[in-house]
Amino acid sequence: MEFEKKRRLMVENQIIKRRITDKGVIEAMLKVPRHLFVEEAMWESAYGDFPLPIGDGQTISQPYMVAVMTEKLELGKDSRVLEIGTGSGYQTAILAEICECVFTVERISALEKKARIALEKLGYINIAFKIGDGTLGWSESAPYDGILITAGAPRIPELLFSQLKEGGRMVIPIGSSYSQVLTVVRKRKGKMVEEPCFGCTFVPLIGREGWSEE
Ligand code: SAM
Repeated sequence: MEFEKKRRLMVENQIIKRRITDKGVIEAMLKVPRHLFVEEAMWESAYGDFPLPIGDGQTISQPYMVAVMTEKLELGKDSRVLEIGTGSGYQTAILAEICECVFTVERISALEKKARIALEKLGYINIAFKIGDGTLGWSESAPYDGILITAGAPRIPELLFSQLKEGGRMVIPIGSSYSQVLTVVRKRKGKMVEEPCFGCTFVPLIGREGWSEE
């Protein structure tokens, strides 16, 4: 089956049927060639309803998880967003389709390099990349309208919250290193307002305000 058709079926069956309604998210997921973010041997599985390995013990998230996290950020054309955990770069591409600019941080340099090459080949010019501990954020470009953390954290990283705009949103899996609750954190009058959404499982967020490396 052609990849475009697989992509359409992915969006119809995994995204729209599960009540994702944000047009920007749906259009981006119809457009971005997800298979180009995994090894060629996995291209045929790239549109399946599951995460896939991307090397270094990390994963590209399930398509529905990418959609729901992006929708919960409530981004628009003028938004500036910070993503922690570039991984394959697929989620980065979805954000770049929707927002004015994306700042993305990855701690594993081999993954950052692969993601950057894939995203540059696709012609994205509104993405800034950084290798390092994303739990410290990216203060030089703060504040952000949205902050997306694509790895499981033990708690809300204070520094990241301080880099969020007033009225902005952070989407973050919070819990133990093997099971978390997807949480939306809003900044209202400088304070955290947390909304737990549903259970999820992410690789751990490793860093100064995350888990320590074993
Ligand atoms: N959204 C990605 C995608 O579409 O492929 C999947 C990200 S994967 C589930 C989580 C990523 O977070 C991994 O690549 C991991 O190396 C990265 N990570 C973990 N802790 C980090 C930290 N402190 N700073 C930056 N990246 C981190």
